[in-house]
Amino acid sequence: MTALAEREGALCVESVSLAEVAARYGTPCFVYSRAALAAAYREFDEAFAGLRHLICYALKANSNLAILDVFARLGSGFDVVSGGELARVIAAGGDPRKIVFSGVGKSDDELSQGLELGIFCFNVESASELEHLNRIADRSGKVAPVSLRVNPDVDARTHPYISTGLKQSKFGVAFDEAPELYRRAAALSGIAIRGIDIHIGSQITALEPYREATTKLLELVDTLAAEGIRLEHVDLGGGIGIRYHDETPVALADYAAMIAALFRGRTEMLVLEPGRRLTGDAGVLLTRVSYLKPGPERSFAVVDAAMNDLLRPALYDAWHEVRPVRPRNEGPRIWQIVGPVCESADFLARDRELALAEGDLLAILSAGAYAMAMSSNYNSRPRAAEVLVDGGTMHLVGRRETVGELFARESRLP
Ligand SMILES: *Cc1c(COP(=O)(O)O)cnc(C)c1O
Repeated sequence: MTALAEREGALCVESVSLAEVAARYGTPCFVYSRAALAAAYREFDEAFAGLRHLICYALKANSNLAILDVFARLGSGFDVVSGGELARVIAAGGDPRKIVFSGVGKSDDELSQGLELGIFCFNVESASELEHLNRIADRSGKVAPVSLRVNPDVDARTHPYISTGLKQSKFGVAFDEAPELYRRAAALSGIAIRGIDIHIGSQITALEPYREATTKLLELVDTLAAEGIRLEHVDLGGGIGIRYHDETPVALADYAAMIAALFRGRTEMLVLEPGRRLTGDAGVLLTRVSYLKPGPERSFAVVDAAMNDLLRPALYDAWHEVRPVRPRNEGPRIWQIVGPVCESADFLARDRELALAEGDLLAILSAGAYAMAMSSNYNSRPRAAEVLVDGGTMHLVGRRETVGELFARESRLP
């Protein structure tokens, strides 16, 4: 995280010490850096400066309104996957004309919602969805702007749960069936063909899958053009990875140069849907050590954050760096960092050599993406507070849930 700093032996986000955040807002708490968010967006935007492009932040990575606000102010568009995300973008002041609507199971209500708002494009994933959208558009006297998500059948070489571009995945329409579906779409009165899109997976650290998929995609665009179906934009989705541990992430300049070479002489606008790359490194999860249970076989540090706050280790066996907010020297040992949830899968980090005492604060790094967004109330745990640091100022952008809120929508029997 670019905005993580050490001052007087203690960890800070921008110029606010994490100890101060914990004292004011408690733990567990997500802490985001506005400077890191803005730097990540600008790096992406500037890498593609040579191409006409639209960045649509994929908000499923982190949909906090303040984060959407930061990106909207920088001119970002948004990639949404539900009516709820659509509503969030509007609530955060995002421009509906820069929204792409992805997802394999959009409901009729969600399609109507997108049409009413006048979004940039529906990324349609099946023939049936196209029919639904056409019917809804016809009924309301509107024309729906459409891109077809095609499945390029390339291996993104990432975790199977976040690999989405293989033939056997549930996403998109089969590559060979796409031309026929475009022909059908061209004949529908409620549909305006605008583009084509792919999204091959997440936490991708190699350029080759992108090269392969983009090359195939552009061949398809040319085949369609030869039939008179001309596309205005090409959407390459998201998926660019970050460094959690020892990965070597793709350099954005290399990615952009590779895409620019493939786009030479073309007129289509490029659309990109980065999620993790824009927010992952811009947040930490701040947690406090509740109990230490040293043992001859394994030693456990029980912290107040858990798998309901950060699911990635339990779900993908993901690695997050753990840093003491104020490091100490005495007696390091190998700790299992675990939460209070009643599951053996409730671990945040395994086998970390740290010197710890009860009451210490720990920062779990790279927790800006797919952390709060995937959090739950499992074990009736209120969701964590969220704080956005801007220079020397702390903004509470998500207050801690209360226990009362957990069951406020439930009722007892009459
Ligand atoms: C999840 C998703 C993204 C963002 O993926 P990242 O790996 O976070 O960049 C982009 N587009 C679609 C369609 C997605 O489902």
